[in-house]
Amino acid sequence: MNSGAAGGSTICSEISDNPILMNFAEETGLLVEDSAEARRYNRIKRWLGFADFAIGVVFLIALLVTGWTGTLRDLALRLGFENYPLAVFLYVFMLLLFSKILSFGLEYYGFRLEHHFHLSNQRRLSWAWDELKGWLVGLVLATIVAEVLYFIIRQSPEHWWLIAWGVFLLLFVLFAQIAPVVLFPIFYKFEPLHNDDLKERLTRLGEQAGTRVRGVYKWNLSEKSKKANAALTGLGATRRIILADTLLDNYSPDEIEAVLAHELGHHVHRHILKSIFVQAGITLFGFWATNQVLHWAIDRHGVFETLSDFANLPLLVLVATVLSLILMPALNAYSRYNERQADRYAFKSIATVDPLSLP
Ligand SMILES: [Zn+2]
Repeated sequence: MNSGAAGGSTICSEISDNPILMNFAEETGLLVEDSAEARRYNRIKRWLGFADFAIGVVFLIALLVTGWTGTLRDLALRLGFENYPLAVFLYVFMLLLFSKILSFGLEYYGFRLEHHFHLSNQRRLSWAWDELKGWLVGLVLATIVAEVLYFIIRQSPEHWWLIAWGVFLLLFVLFAQIAPVVLFPIFYKFEPLHNDDLKERLTRLGEQAGTRVRGVYKWNLSEKSKKANAALTGLGATRRIILADTLLDNYSPDEIEAVLAHELGHHVHRHILKSIFVQAGITLFGFWATNQVLHWAIDRHGVFETLSDFANLPLLVLVATVLSLILMPALNAYSRYNERQADRYAFKSIATVDPLSLP
């Protein structure tokens, strides 16, 4: 899971990322941020991420430049008996299948890497099963997005980008709400926390921060990872605290409280809401820019015949990718700012964190 307060959940206090908890991390033998081993791990991870990204971009460009995207569209239409929504699905299916095949080697290398640095307990079969489930979830989400998008484009070629922006914003908020109950359990087992003492401490900490927590759950992470993690996820009725068993087993209640205090710091500073607004602004610009690029490709270059020609999907994805690449440094800085704010909240709200022992 990624760091940052993106989406409706903050799953960010991976211990080694968290300045407050660096001291604790040392005690349990997790990677410490400035050890040579951790630097090597982080460097390789960055290169893997970059290579994966580069493969994806090259794939998209190749589809557009060679005209394979048109070939795939024709194939999808033939296989889908010229039924438009069915053909959109088949096209997305083929696209995701090819990109999975292309990136599979790197992903397997990433899996080996986690083992090499003793960060993972996961067996190969379990990993492969997770990969398959991840791919299927990706397929379902991409299909929903593509079907909705091209439906809107067909209904309103003029204002599709504005309508799509509104619809996707709603979908995004809905998704953030259901993710902890629907999506996370596909990959991990959760059970209610039985430690009443800790549960009470954490719920009280939540009340102090002004959030009504609807449950504290134990997150069975240890069968897959050695990293400790905690999160405050969901919106409204699905709002819950999840604590990795790796955290519960290796850290004292005081330390766990400190981790959660950081998460609650995100809540107090309304980082979820702010992130949604930031996302909304960026997405609006993104949809507008995509519309411009599509018109440029169709009107000036005649690459696609119409807006609703779903062979233009790689171009849409490419525009979104380039845009997010340009915005990444700013978004990362924003995310770091949020992390520091959450840390400061944790300092203030937890008396047990000794400020003198912090870096
Ligand atoms: Zn955080």
